Amino acid sequence: MDASPFPLFYYGPMPDDTAARRKWARAKGAGGHVLRRGAWYMVVNDTQPGVVVLNVRKTNVPVPRDMLDIIDGKPGQWSVVKWQETQRGARRASEHDLGLVYAVCPSCGERGKIDPLDAAELTCAHCHGTFPVDWEHPC
Ligand SMILES: [Zn+2]
Repeated sequence: MDASPFPLFYYGPMPDDTAARRKWARAKGAGGHVLRRGAWYMVVNDTQPGVVVLNVRKTNVPVPRDMLDIIDGKPGQWSVVKWQETQRGARRASEHDLGLVYAVCPSCGERGKIDPLDAAELTCAHCHGTFPVDWEHPC
């Protein structure tokens, strides 16, 4: 047995400078997968051609690469999620009193109402961060 007191893997929170250099990914649009629509997940492994491994609620989850938007560095804008009436999940979103268009916090992943409807920035009720709204790339 290895008597080293240091664990082989460290699953705790990353220091901020490490987090800033990492890649982040979010699902493109709706799909039958474990990713919350509009939320960013830290990329754990990006070395395989077809699959990217993401940290989803502290579990490593492989996701097909073509289902993802991937960026370098920490996301800094609210994702704008737009459901079509007919999409699976649309009813659930509107039952949460969010309507079919809402925003997802880049910092904590909490969903937020877009108020006013053309808001340029929003403050998160959960983490109290204020970020611009990414109207250019709805997902
Ligand atoms: Zn937040």
